[in-house]
Amino acid sequence: MIYRPMGRSGLDISALSMGCGHLPDDPDLCDELLHAAVAAGINYFETATIYCNGECQPRTGRGLEPVRDKIMVSAKHGLLVEGEADSQPATTGDDYRREILENQLPALRTDHVEWLQVGWFQAHKLDALRAKGGVLDAIRQLQDEKIVGHVGFTTHDTPENVVTCIESGVFESCTLQYNLLNRSYEPALDAAGEHGVAIVVMGPLHGGMLALPAPALRELVPNPDVTTSRAGLQFVLSHPAVSTACSGMGSVAQLQENLTSILAEPTDADRAEMDAVFGRFKEVADSLCTGCNYCAPCPQGVNISQNLRIRNYLAVYGAIDAAAQAYAAIEPAARAACCTDCGECEEKCPNDLPVRKLLQEIAGACEGVR
Ligand code: SF4
Ligand code: SF4
Repeated sequence: MIYRPMGRSGLDISALSMGCGHLPDDPDLCDELLHAAVAAGINYFETATIYCNGECQPRTGRGLEPVRDKIMVSAKHGLLVEGEADSQPATTGDDYRREILENQLPALRTDHVEWLQVGWFQAHKLDALRAKGGVLDAIRQLQDEKIVGHVGFTTHDTPENVVTCIESGVFESCTLQYNLLNRSYEPALDAAGEHGVAIVVMGPLHGGMLALPAPALRELVPNPDVTTSRAGLQFVLSHPAVSTACSGMGSVAQLQENLTSILAEPTDADRAEMDAVFGRFKEVADSLCTGCNYCAPCPQGVNISQNLRIRNYLAVYGAIDAAAQAYAAIEPAARAACCTDCGECEEKCPNDLPVRKLLQEIAGACEGVR
C-alpha cells in the first residue's frame, strides 16, 4: 500500500481508503471485505449513521473490532442551523456530544474515533458551528477527552465556499467529490494544499460511473490494458493535495480492482499516456453540468441540474432508455421541455454551459421516447 500524509494532522493514510456506505448485507461477506481491506493496508474507514439503511456503523464496528488498533475510523454528524432541514441534525453542542457518545461510538464498538467529520457542511454554518458553547466547543471537549482525534468536514458546497471553510482554520480534513468527470473543486484542492488540510476524495469514480463499461469512456482510454477505473483513480491521486481516494466498495472484487489500479507502478510511457487520457476527459468534463445549482431558480420552474444530470449520463453512456426513464420521473413542470429560452441561467453558470441548447437536447431525446 502507498501511504500519504493526511494534511497537517501528523497521520498517514492509505492512498486507497474505504467509504463504508456499500458494505454487504451478508455479515460474512461484510466481514470478509473489511478484513481483506485491512490486510491490503487500507487504514481509513469512513462511516455515517445513514449509510446502508442505518447499518453502516454496526457493520463496520463488528468487522473492524478485532483490528481496531491498526486502523482509523471516521464518524460523521451534521449541524442544523435555524430554518433548515438536515438529514443528520444537531442544534446544540450537547446534542452533538450525545449523538457521538451514545449512538455512534457504541455502534462502532469503540471508545474513540480518530476522525470526526462535521457532515454536509456549508460555509454559512461556520458562525453557528463556532458559537460560544456550541458544536465546535463540544467537539473540542471530545478532543480534550481523547474521544475524538481530528476534525474534518464533508461538503457539497460551492468551490468558493469550500475554500472559505478550509481557510477558517477549524478543520484538518475536507471530504469532497473530485474525479475525471468533475473537476470543479480544483480551487478548493489548491487551498487545502496551501493550508495543510487533507483532501479525502469521495466519489473518485464518479459514483461508479467510471467503472462501468461504456464505449464512449473506452474511447477516452484506448489502451485495452488500462481500465477506466485505473485511469480514474490515478487521476485523483495525481493531485498533490489529495491524501486518499475514498471509494465506496461493496465487494472483494471491487477492492481488488481498485488495489490493482492504484498499485500499478506507472512507467514514463504510462504517465505520458495517462496525461493524454486526463486531457481527453477534461474536454468531456468541461461540457458536463456539475450540479452546482448556481443557475437556480429558473423563473419557469425548470429543474436545470436534474435535467442536465440526465444529459450527463446520456453524453457519457448514450443510454437513451435509462435517460428517458429518469426524465419521465421529473415533475412535468420541471422538465427541460418547459424552458422558454430566456437565457437567465446561462448568465449564472460558472462553467459557461450552453444550458438552453443542452436542455433542448435532453428534451428532444427523451420527450419522444415512451
Ligand atoms: S433559459 Fe430556460 S432553463 Fe434557463 S432560466 Fe430561462 S427558462 Fe429557465
Ligand atoms: S447548468 Fe451550470 S450553474 Fe447550473 S447546475 Fe449545471 S454547472 Fe451549475
